[in-house]
Amino acid sequence: MSKIADYLNQSAVENVKQAIAKARQNESYHALLSLTETRALERAAKVDNGLIGGRLKGVPFVVKDNFLAFGAPTTAASKMLENFNAPLQATAVEKLEAEGAICIGKANLDAFAHGGSTENSAFGPTKNAFDQTRVAGGSSGGSAVVTALDIVPFALGSDTGGSIREPASFNGVYGIKPSYGTVSRYGVVAMASSTDTIGCFTTNAADAELVMSIMSGRDPKDMTTLPDFFAPTAVKPSQRIGLVKDFMSEGVEPEVRDRTNEYVAKLRAAGHTVEEVELPMAKYALAVYYIVVPAEVSSNLARYDGVRYGHRAEAVKTLAELYGRSRDEGFVTENKRRIMIGSYVLSSGFFDAYYLQAQKARTLLVNEFDQLFTDYDALIGPVAPMPAFALGANTADPIKMYLADIMTVPASLAGLPAISVPAGKTSAGLPVGVQLIGKRRADAQLLALAKSLECDEVKN
Ligand code: GLN
Repeated sequence: MSKIADYLNQSAVENVKQAIAKARQNESYHALLSLTETRALERAAKVDNGLIGGRLKGVPFVVKDNFLAFGAPTTAASKMLENFNAPLQATAVEKLEAEGAICIGKANLDAFAHGGSTENSAFGPTKNAFDQTRVAGGSSGGSAVVTALDIVPFALGSDTGGSIREPASFNGVYGIKPSYGTVSRYGVVAMASSTDTIGCFTTNAADAELVMSIMSGRDPKDMTTLPDFFAPTAVKPSQRIGLVKDFMSEGVEPEVRDRTNEYVAKLRAAGHTVEEVELPMAKYALAVYYIVVPAEVSSNLARYDGVRYGHRAEAVKTLAELYGRSRDEGFVTENKRRIMIGSYVLSSGFFDAYYLQAQKARTLLVNEFDQLFTDYDALIGPVAPMPAFALGANTADPIKMYLADIMTVPASLAGLPAISVPAGKTSAGLPVGVQLIGKRRADAQLLALAKSLECDEVKN
């Protein structure tokens, strides 16, 4: 049941005005950092006058504020880029605009996408769409919440280790993290280049198919993009699906396991075979991720030195003080923690013991996945061990926060497509998502599977 379709035959100016009015009514969630109202209305008038058309003609959408986009600053939710106006737009945004879509605002995130709750935003956290005392999830929390609140029919996010899937699960919407290289990363603020992916939030699988088919494809500006392969497809009957046992342990809240088992029952009822499978390397995935990713973060964030662009400290006397104070003032604590860990694991004395070892373990994890995919079409498990947690519950302890990523980082390290599908709620009314993981480049097959099982009760 496409929601995008509802927007296509209406006035674009009306679509934009309604989306912006709804965004203003819902300011208390703090899902958006800025509105791009003037530019959006200008583009909408062009759509209504027949100057812009396409498959997303007049459809409003929101981008996570780490996508370079015109009409408002691109802050990455950091003081470092607070006043940064993008000189160009991300390829993903350009492709959507070429089909007539209209960006109405920029969504909150953990600063530089470092986090799993959106509490690391330098501008304050986003609140969960179902319970304002709880987190939105992260790092793409704002994008998930604007989709869940029906402000726009789709929103863009980035997923490096779970940042689309986890907030999708916490807010009861669909979230797709495609195969690494499916969508160009050009014009998106880099976090960890070997696992960064671009995807979207929607309220149904058909809309995700449409948005992904537009955004995906080879981009000469990003040499890691894959040749075009994403094409919506029919669901393959009688699939073999592996339920990842390692993701169903005691550490996962019982109601999350219950919702997962119910989804498994639906798969079986639809004629698929589901069997328990083991992924022993999964227990090392979090450790590997929190070495590899900070290493890449420390390299990618080195460009913010107060000299070229971004925040510059005032009244400094030496070059060292300029670098130091600019970075101290521009980054949040979590950014600094990752820069320090990354620099440490890459330093000459520790490179072999940490970084190299982590990359070897990563290869073993990739091999385990590849082995499973010789027998199975897809894997299933929860997205996160728990539903949305209370605001502030994990902020004092970074390890506790990182543990929420335990089931999303494996697919990221292996570059596999994975989607978060709404699977119902807990008894307290909090949404729970299940995660479907596919073979590399099986993105459209995963969405087709999710679409074939879609039913109304999981929507809010
Ligand atoms: N929560 C994970 C982290 O903190 C994922 C972040 C992301 O995917 N951008 O690294």
